[in-house]
Amino acid sequence: MASSSDTEVVIIGGGAAGVAAARRLADARIDCLLVEARSRLGGRAWTINSEFPIDLGCGWLHSADRNPWREVAALQGRSIDKTPPPWMRRSAPIGFPLSEQDAFLQAHREFYERLDSLSEDKPDVAAATFLEPHGRWNALINAVSSYVSGAELDRVSARDFDRYGDSGVNWRVVEGYGTVIAAHGHGLPVMLGCPVRLIDRRGRRLRMETPNGAITANAAIVTVPTPVLAEEKIVFIPPLPEKTEAALGLPLGLADKLFLSLADAEEFNKESRLFGHTDRSRTGVYHFRPFGRPQIEAYFGGRLAAELEAGGDGAFVDFAVSELVGLFGSDFARRVKPLKLHPWGIDPFSRGSYSYALPGKAGCRAALAAPVDDRLFFAGEACSGSDYSTAHGAYLTGVTAAEQVIAARIKR
Ligand SMILES: Cc1cc2nc3c(=O)[nH]c(=O)nc-3n(C[C@H](O)[C@H](O)[C@H](O)COP(=O)(O)OP(=O)(O)OC[C@H]3O[C@@H](n4cnc5c(N)ncnc54)[C@H](O)[C@@H]3O)c2cc1C
Repeated sequence: MASSSDTEVVIIGGGAAGVAAARRLADARIDCLLVEARSRLGGRAWTINSEFPIDLGCGWLHSADRNPWREVAALQGRSIDKTPPPWMRRSAPIGFPLSEQDAFLQAHREFYERLDSLSEDKPDVAAATFLEPHGRWNALINAVSSYVSGAELDRVSARDFDRYGDSGVNWRVVEGYGTVIAAHGHGLPVMLGCPVRLIDRRGRRLRMETPNGAITANAAIVTVPTPVLAEEKIVFIPPLPEKTEAALGLPLGLADKLFLSLADAEEFNKESRLFGHTDRSRTGVYHFRPFGRPQIEAYFGGRLAAELEAGGDGAFVDFAVSELVGLFGSDFARRVKPLKLHPWGIDPFSRGSYSYALPGKAGCRAALAAPVDDRLFFAGEACSGSDYSTAHGAYLTGVTAAEQVIAARIKR
């Protein structure tokens, strides 16, 4: 039977942003409740433990030198791996001679430089505008965009892309990024398996409807992914069309990882990387022996990932094996076995992997983050102006929203 709970602040969504917000409020001794739709904390941060910890969502501590999760991981006694990421080094020269890699890297750098030249007073355009007409490496630059943004460049706002801040330092947590984020929520008051369906702010107190009954609170922090808001899976009364519109401008791009076991792995360099193809955007990228483990982490993005999700798990495995066989010969098929995959696009509580802004929609991030009536607050990676799409961006927006709650409480 439905019951009712009361608290001072409800945090909706227990991913990186929600956990960080709830922790900040709990540290300030404010009565709060973290309400999460899934049966676990972490959201798009998710480590599963098989033979080794595997991050199905975020894996890299991007901007690690200023990433707050690094400090949290250190306090938890985790091991930080500082091996530079494979994308910052040249790939193995298999199917991609070093001279071609250099030409590609040069073309990629020049693309970024042209994109950087878009000044803030010029109208926004699709990032694809800055590709060299008929450039030899355009397809591969687009493939990289499908990994970085989860979308090809024709869909991505150049202005928003340019606003992303990257210190260039990328580390990993051996026990898993998802492990750190979920563990940061240990001991917090949490309600799992509880999707919020409605937020009513007509009364003196906010009223949230869930399958477990109603929850009332003075304030709420909404941290759900943008598709949940864009598809109005949470109904606001009175409506908040400006939030729906902001969320529609910030869709989640799609990136999926497939983990394969690799027999006789020693034949390959640790932490090496290969593109399946270098002449098309519809290609996976394969990270061999992450952490030295006998595995391949295959990464698919954008339209290719959406197409593979439509084909089911087998479509990912078939595609990966066909690309690897193309590089190493038909015997290679016997050396790999699927370990794990999570299709984030059809996951009802994320509906994608990380946010990008559509051309002309860079301003949606500030619109999404803006508080309503000093009692409804918004956080989550999509609310970050320069660290969007990342777990540390999510953390920072969560803490900002918690500080806004604290400031509003003092005014009241
Ligand atoms: C494959 C992949 C690779 C990635 N790689 C990296 C990386 O290397 N480095 C990096 O920094 N980032 C990476 N990311 C992105 C990173 O995981 C996210 O940006 C970050 O985890 C988002 O945190 P969040 O709190 O904003 O959202 P989420 O983690 O999505 O949290 C929102 C929560 O809201 C819950 N929810 C949804 N609907 C409701 C509802 N109605 N009621 C209650 N709860 C609800 C969800 O279940 C979820 O737990 C990756 C993501 C993916 C998918």
